[in-house]
Amino acid sequence: MSDLLIKNVRVLDGDPTEILIRDGRIAAIGDRLDQAGAAVEDAGGRIALPGLTEAHTHLDKSLLGYPWYHNDVGGGNLMAMIDNERQMKKRLGLDPHVQSMRHALQTASFGATLIRSHVDIDTTGGLSALEGVMETAEKLADVVEIQTVAFPQSGLMISPGTANLLDEAMKMGADLMGGLDPCGVDRDPKGHLDTIFALAEKHGKGIDIHLHERGELGAFSMEQILNRAEALGMKGMLTVSHAFCLGMPDPARVNPLLERLGALEASIMTTAPASSPAPLVKQMAEYGIRFGAGNDGIQDIWGPYGNGDMLERAKFVGLRSNLRSDAEMYMALDVCSGGGAQAMGMERRELKVGAPGDVVIVEGIAVAHAIVHHAPRKLVVKAGRVTARDGETLMTAP
Ligand SMILES: [Zn+2]
Repeated sequence: MSDLLIKNVRVLDGDPTEILIRDGRIAAIGDRLDQAGAAVEDAGGRIALPGLTEAHTHLDKSLLGYPWYHNDVGGGNLMAMIDNERQMKKRLGLDPHVQSMRHALQTASFGATLIRSHVDIDTTGGLSALEGVMETAEKLADVVEIQTVAFPQSGLMISPGTANLLDEAMKMGADLMGGLDPCGVDRDPKGHLDTIFALAEKHGKGIDIHLHERGELGAFSMEQILNRAEALGMKGMLTVSHAFCLGMPDPARVNPLLERLGALEASIMTTAPASSPAPLVKQMAEYGIRFGAGNDGIQDIWGPYGNGDMLERAKFVGLRSNLRSDAEMYMALDVCSGGGAQAMGMERRELKVGAPGDVVIVEGIAVAHAIVHHAPRKLVVKAGRVTARDGETLMTAP
């Protein structure tokens, strides 16, 4: 943490002013602030945004730094993609620490100061992915805070030995218990959910479960998840990632689920997918559900998409939710910054006195303009320290 004065900076769409960060927090916003002892950066009239939040990704397995990967497995067959990935990771000799350093630093270079990463736990790789990502989290603690989710990517009930590995992962210090399509992958919703909720309870941690199941099947799984979270009193401790089922066009079926998620102060993480109905920004706000967004895996064996840029993701959030006005574009930004932080159980990132000193300086005429044009990042500041300049982190990736 250090003291920093950012001069000649526009707070969102405001007039040029100054932001003073002291002891890692925003101490003042205004003109002619007392800069004694603080480093000074001139933003040149550019726009300040709150630190961005990558709330759903997979740091352990991107192919950044590798030659371009030619993918033979198309979308649509989940089990084929899962099996292909487990085999290819081994064949390519991916080092989860090196890959997570590359991925996290690239994400930070775009302005993210918080990342939640699911990390594969399976009987092929064991705990090696978690070890690698936790090493990265430690090395990058001053650049980007990384949460880890112990994620049974290859299934749990269909893969004996995985439950013990998840238990070990939680002992090692994974921040959350993960899960995956209890019907679609394991075909045993009771077995899958009983196991992950028991592990979460045993270790006193929250849950972040991938739920891709659509329509009625997804709604059924969501009910099973909510039943357990309610019984255990997991207020503020439940995240459902993707939750495509909440985007289905049947309010009589969806709204009771939204009510229950809101009452639990649960979080939903979305990629704002172009290929599927999905939860929408105003719908989540209406029910008091915390809402974050992420790239999901980037440039990996699953697919070529994603780059870690959460400002670009804000554009996708806006497109998915049909957001257009300036006020609505702020909502899209918030899902990818302060709101996403809150969905991760962290303090909101926002540009006000007392908030964490995480600030991104971007080019652009206005916030909406910066979002839709993926504006270049001039400066990224984490807790008052400059961590990236002109789109490059000060720390270099291996
Ligand atoms: Zn994912």
